[in-house]
Amino acid sequence: MERIDTQQDAQGSNENKEMPDWMHDERVLKEHLQYAFVKGCKVLGQGRVADYIPELARADTYAFGLAAQKTDGTVVSCGEVDTRFSIQSVSKVISLALALKLLGTEEVFSHVLMEPSGDSFSSIIKLDTKSDLPYNPMINAGAIQVVSLLADQVGFQDALQFARYMCMDPDVDLNEPVYRSEAQTGDRNRAIAYLLKSKGVLVADPEETLDLYFRLCALNVTAKSLATLGLVLANDGENPITSQHVIAPRHARAINSLMFTCGMYDGSGEFGVKVGIPAKSGVGGGIACSVKGRMGIGVYGPALNEKGNSVGGLAALEYLSDALHLHVFDYHPYIVEK
Ligand code: GLN
Repeated sequence: MERIDTQQDAQGSNENKEMPDWMHDERVLKEHLQYAFVKGCKVLGQGRVADYIPELARADTYAFGLAAQKTDGTVVSCGEVDTRFSIQSVSKVISLALALKLLGTEEVFSHVLMEPSGDSFSSIIKLDTKSDLPYNPMINAGAIQVVSLLADQVGFQDALQFARYMCMDPDVDLNEPVYRSEAQTGDRNRAIAYLLKSKGVLVADPEETLDLYFRLCALNVTAKSLATLGLVLANDGENPITSQHVIAPRHARAINSLMFTCGMYDGSGEFGVKVGIPAKSGVGGGIACSVKGRMGIGVYGPALNEKGNSVGGLAALEYLSDALHLHVFDYHPYIVEK
């Protein structure tokens, strides 16, 4: 490794030394987003749309879109960024944010742990054999537990309003067919809720909890709404466009940490190494990313890998992280790799 003098840039100026090019030149970001889009498109055929919730099988394997929103509010996008699709597990971020807002950190984390599970998102194994409390709020067991805290406090309409507020998208709404489809077939989640009840840890009635959980998973969003969601988290819980304090900075910090360690399920470790951005995925093909202090990125790409993460999204984000130095543990951009 060789360190190049960073005191002055090529033009001999110290200006914007701390600011990467793409932060003040929209065209640079657009160009990289386009490259990332192509990288993502190339691998879409390697993934499969989720079909364990029958209604999700209707998605188009080749649909793909990327949206980035910077702290100055600028949106740069490529592909299908206005297409509505169901948020699925990305809603776990919203339910956790709302629970933290209503109940505070201590209370919420007395009902759910903060540890990566290393198991698939709908696994029951650790819950049955290792711990009465679910491992973290980013997997189904943990999210169902968090939603049981909510079900005791708010109705679906309140949670929907909060989702709209967090995504700055008044058109977020319930996708009825997706909701009904999961409510009819979601036996694994039903098993999780009843297992939590049998252990005496579920806070609300299991059917009430599941109904709210299925509804929140069936909210229709776009890649743009997920970019704004990521942006709010990247900006310490404050929406930089409206200056509204959506959630407390301490809560945003907790959510970003859990997204980093658990947000991509049993693919979180690899994603942490290769991309290194707090992110949350869903089987509808969405990913919301929070790039600390800089921007939110929203992905729509329903072709998934075996872990339930968008294949196009993974390829695109890996490219973007490298090209724009977004990794939270990134080395100095002026260090030349040998
Ligand atoms: N609603 C889905 C489920 O509970 C969400 C899973 C996901 O997006 N990974 O199975």
